[in-house]
Amino acid sequence: MTRFGLAILIILFSSTGYIQSLSAEELVRCAVKSHCFPETKALTYDYKDITYYFCCNVCKKKFKENPEKYISKLPDDYPNCSEQNYSY
Ligand SMILES: [Zn+2]
Repeated sequence: MTRFGLAILIILFSSTGYIQSLSAEELVRCAVKSHCFPETKALTYDYKDITYYFCCNVCKKKFKENPEKYISKLPDDYPNCSEQNYSY
C-alpha cells in the first residue's frame, strides 16, 4: 500500500469515528428548563446523592435556591432524554 492510500484510509476512519461520536452523544435534561442538550455542555450539581444537569449557570443558581421545587417536576427517567425531545 502506498503512503497516499494509507493517508486516505486514516482520513476515512477518523471521519466516520467523528460522525459516530456526534450521533452517540449523550443527551441530558436541564433540571430547570426541562429541555434536552448534550451532556458535554452540561453543568452539574449534586443534591442528595443525585447529579442534576443544567444548561447554564442561571439554571444552576435557580436550582440551588430551591431544589425541591424543580425536583418535583422532573420526569421519572430524569436525566434521560429521547431524540424527540431534543431542542437545544
Ligand atoms: Zn439554562
